Amino acid sequence: MYRMRYLRRRMLTPTSVQLTREQESRMLAEQINLLEFQLNTIRKRLEETPKESSTQRFQQYRFKRSMRPILSILIPKIDSSRCVGCGVCVNACPTGVLALVGGKSRVVHAEACVRCGVCSNLCPSHAITI
Ligand code: SF4
Ligand code: SF4
Repeated sequence: MYRMRYLRRRMLTPTSVQLTREQESRMLAEQINLLEFQLNTIRKRLEETPKESSTQRFQQYRFKRSMRPILSILIPKIDSSRCVGCGVCVNACPTGVLALVGGKSRVVHAEACVRCGVCSNLCPSHAITI
């Protein structure tokens, strides 16, 4: 850190006197050193930065858990014993909530359900209740 400050000060110092070739090359070398040092610091920080912190992951997990009871009330209930896997509800759902899994309709994106009731109304075997 001190080294960086020192080098920066050296770089920013106005020079009214004519520099010799030797002094110029020394200054350039110092500038290159400073840039390399800064670049290495940035690289190191980037390597050390976690992609997604554990706190963020924990907060997401807690939010999902807290939403589960609410979602379970709001999402459509599918009676698997009645479902014949025709896929009508899957194709009709405007928000892509449902998908066919193992030949039966399943809720795969509960958070996207707008409770329009289309799936329930179109199901030929009355397997869905809202
Ligand atoms: S429309 Fe009814 S029977 Fe057809 S896949 Fe959906 S839930 Fe199953
Ligand atoms: S109620 Fe509407 S949005 Fe929700 S699953 Fe059925 S068709 Fe999709």
